[in-house]
Parts: sequence; C-alpha cells; structure tokens
Amino acid sequence: MTEAHEPLTPFSLADLLARISHEWESRHRIFDLPTARFFNVSKGPDISMDFLGRPAATPVGPAAGPHSQMAQNIVLSWLAGSRLIELKTVQIMDELEIGRPCIDMETIGYNIEWSQELKIPQSLEEYVKAWMIIEMMRRWDEVTPLIGTDTGPLVFDLSVGYDLAGISTDQVAWFIDSMMDAREEIERLRPQIGGEFARFRDMDFPARIADTVTLSTFHGCPPDEIESITKHLITRHGLDVIVKLNPTLLGFERVKEIVIETLGYDTTVLRKEDFDNDLQFPRGLELIGELNSFAADQGRRFGIKLTNTLVVENTKGFMPDDTMYLSGPPLHVVSTTLLGELHRALPGMLRVDGQDGPVQVSFSAGITKENLPAAAGLGLAPMTVCSDLLKPGGYGRLAPMLKALWKAMEGVGAGSLREWQAHRAEQSGEQGPVAAYIATLHNPTTNRRYTLAGNSKLPRSVDNELQMWGCVACNFCVTVCPNDAFFRIPTPDELDATGLQQYLVLTELCNECGNCMVFCPEIGDPAVVKPRLFIDPDRFEAVTDLAFLIHQDPDGYWVLPNAAAADHTG
Ligand code: SF4
Ligand code: SF4
Repeated sequence: MTEAHEPLTPFSLADLLARISHEWESRHRIFDLPTARFFNVSKGPDISMDFLGRPAATPVGPAAGPHSQMAQNIVLSWLAGSRLIELKTVQIMDELEIGRPCIDMETIGYNIEWSQELKIPQSLEEYVKAWMIIEMMRRWDEVTPLIGTDTGPLVFDLSVGYDLAGISTDQVAWFIDSMMDAREEIERLRPQIGGEFARFRDMDFPARIADTVTLSTFHGCPPDEIESITKHLITRHGLDVIVKLNPTLLGFERVKEIVIETLGYDTTVLRKEDFDNDLQFPRGLELIGELNSFAADQGRRFGIKLTNTLVVENTKGFMPDDTMYLSGPPLHVVSTTLLGELHRALPGMLRVDGQDGPVQVSFSAGITKENLPAAAGLGLAPMTVCSDLLKPGGYGRLAPMLKALWKAMEGVGAGSLREWQAHRAEQSGEQGPVAAYIATLHNPTTNRRYTLAGNSKLPRSVDNELQMWGCVACNFCVTVCPNDAFFRIPTPDELDATGLQQYLVLTELCNECGNCMVFCPEIGDPAVVKPRLFIDPDRFEAVTDLAFLIHQDPDGYWVLPNAAAADHTG
C-alpha cells in the first residue's frame, strides 16, 4: 500500500544561513554536525582522486540518494569530508508518490527509494544553494581553522534518469543546462545572503556547477536505450558520462550463490525474471566498449558505476510495495565480484589494479570505514556511500572513514592514492589487488563482516513507550536522519518535562522515511511523537494536530504552540 505523505519543503537560502549562524553561535555545530566530525583534507596524506579528468580532494561522497537531495544534506556531506557529491537523480516524473517508510536499515539495508522528491526547479535550487553555501563555508573564518584554508577541489556529479524520452524533455534539458551554467539561479538567490554572511553577497560564485553525469536506468532498460541516452548526454550536453550498472549483470545463479549460499542470507528472495529482463553480461561488455569508443571520438570521458542496489522480493513487510532493493554488506560482495568478472573480460579497459585503463570505475556498495582502504587500493574512484551514513553517527561517520584510509596509507608510507594502490598491487602478487580482495570476501575465515551471522544484531531497544517530552536521549534520531530534520535543545526551565535534553523535528524537512523509527530504542515513531515544528506559517495553520511554529523577530527565535499543543507544554 502506498500512503500519501507530506512533501518536503526546502528551507530558503536565507533560512539555511540563519540556521547555520544561530547554531554556530549557540552550539558550535553546523546542521547538528559536531566540530570533531569536520574533516580537514590537509591533515594527512594526499587522498585526492581524478574523476573523469577533474580533481576531487577526497575519493568519497554521498551516493545519489537520501544524502544528496536537500541543500543541508550536501553541505553536511562536504563538511564531513565528501568531495564528490553524486546529486540525487532528477527525472521528468517529479511528482512521485513514494511508499513510506522507504528505508529499512534494521540490519543490512533495504529501501524502496527512488529519485528526487522535489520538482525539477526545486532540485536545481537545492543544488545551487548547497554549492553557494559551501563556497561561503570555504571562506568563513569561523570554520576555516577546523576545515583548513584550502579545502580542495569538489565535484558535483549530476544523476539523471530514467529513459531517453524523459531525459530529452525540455525540463530535464533545462535542468542540465542550468547546472552547467548556473548564473541565473545564483543571481536569483544572491539577495538572500545576509546577516553573518553579508560579506559574501558580492562573491564571485563559480557558475559551472556540474559537467559530469551518472546515468540511472530502470531495471529492464533495453541496452539500446542505455546506449542512446549516453550518446544523447554526450552530444546534446557535452557531458562526461558514467553508466550505473545493475548487480543483476552478474547473473541469477551467481548472485544467488553469493547471497544465499556463501553469505547465508537464506530468507532473501531473488526473482529470476528480474535478472532475465535486465542487461546481460555479454551485451554489457559490448556496451562498455562501444560507449567508451563513442565518448573518446567525441572528446569526452566514459565510466561505469558498480552498482545499483539489488532487486529482491519484499519479504520483510516493514516497507510497502512487493519489491525492495538490497544494499550494504552483501551487495559489497556481489558488486566487487562483478567488478572482478568485468575486469577479467575486459583486460586493460578498466581503471583498476593500478592500470591506466580508459574506463573509470565508480563504486557504491556497502562502503564502510573497515573496507574503504581496501576499496581505494583497487583504484575505485569515487566510492560513494549511503547505507553506512544511515546508521547512528550519520554524516559524522565520513571523517573516521577517511581517517582510516589515512592511517592505512601512513602505515606503509604512501603519500598519495597512487602510491597506496601501487603498494596494494605489490602485496597482492600476480593475481592483482582486485582478485585478491574478492578472494577475502568469499573466504569464510575473512568475510564474517559480510555474512548474515555478522549482520544479525538488531538496533537496541528499551521497553518504554515514546512520549513527546523526555526519552533516553540517545541522539540517534538526530544523526540517522539524512535530512537533518531532528535537533535537540536543553530542556527549558519552564517546561514540566523529564530529562536534560528534548528532541524536536522540523516537519517540513521530514519525508517520513522511517529511519529514526528503526533506530529509536523506545517504542514509537519519533517523527510523529516528538514535537513537530514548522517555519512556514501557512503550513502550520493547516495542521490540526499537535504542532509548533518557529517564529523569528528582532529579539530572537520563539516557539509558539498551536491549540492542540498548548496542553502538552506544561
Ligand atoms: S525525521 Fe525520521 S522519518 Fe523524518 S526524514 Fe528524518 S529520519 Fe526520516
Ligand atoms: S526520540 Fe528516540 S532516538 Fe531520539 S533521542 Fe529520544 S530515544 Fe533517542
């Protein structure tokens, strides 16, 4: 069953800047990220990467998904160390009704997410706002002592879907053109820069925000369609293109063997027809060769992304829909095995194993702090993350991930990713780093982290009904929310409530994804039970159940209850 949900209502640039300024002054955080989780690229070895000919200061960033949808998500990713932002997929059908909840991170990670939940012009505005805020943060002397004065190059990578008809429409073409030359949007937003950031109002914001794209296609998209879309993006827009491939490319029997037999996820239901309808391995090889040649002939670059999530039957029932998409540890093994098969079948073609092949390999499948050093050692770039950032700690998990890479590199004296990859190649001997790494993922003595046995622990729970005020104050709802919709405040003296901290939700930023409900140890849905705050008076007026309005006047911020909430505020 698909339920209606409240649409996301992005904050204006002025409101986002006011929030940054207020939060910094009052709590020394930005969008709830503590300063200890800010990342400074200059404090360790050079981990910059080449992405389709463009430099990026780190090889990590959010995968197109819940962490790259709203402006504050993107800024959070960047502060925490991301330098390749794969923006959430934009497509012509921008009035989707997505089933809720849409994320299930109870164990390994499933979702029924899709593309941007905003209209195309709103998506453009979110991405441009994020770009402008990052440019201001780079120069804001409050944070430069923490992030460094040289934060290094950043790449915004577009993601578009899902078929040629949609991608060729005027609306999607306008979106792509506007990201490649954002002058008009920047000038439209510029007057909103004020307060603490007024000194940046006349800044020269770079207007070319993106000129690369990662293509997402539907399951079952015919190979000729993938080819036509890629050629269209190259010839009509002059973009360098990465094509995201599905894990089904590895074939039904092989994926089943890995997921069910090797890793032990014996309740996972794979449907053969999902594999039969998708791109097949031999045609996939042809396509990679053909599109790489086409791109080179046009003076453009081409790459592949491994992989999309794995389509499985929804047997859990936490989310609606018959189908759900598996991610996390088992997908890491499937996608890396697929990498090995492609690498073997296309000798010298892929840019992995220390080889300068023409086809870049972007990777997204269960990247964590534990496996990032090994994945970087294969030559994968970028490595994008989603499932791991949905766990407690959220965006704050990125900096420790990058520091784990630094530590591994420092341990062998590697001063760059090239040197790190050369070291791993030397260590792995004749078989090469890719084959050596895959062997560890299939070996029962070294792959526990990826197996059912290694991923059966459920989030902790306490036998207590969640209430509006007071709770065990674990802070999980704050960190697991991709939209940073939750925040906490010290319990006001005048409030008759237990606990030193209270947790509140900015309802306009909540898309009811369900992730805070999965991790909240108490019984109940924090996004529903905790005080729901609005900043838009019209939306606030329209709500009849408990709600609060954040009101700003020259004396500061005030929280006003509606009639239903007045009885609950003590
Ligand atoms: S508040 Fe909870 S349900 Fe809402 S977006 Fe955040 S994690 Fe998802
Ligand atoms: S609402 Fe739940 S998740 Fe949030 S702090 Fe309280 S107990 Fe933790």
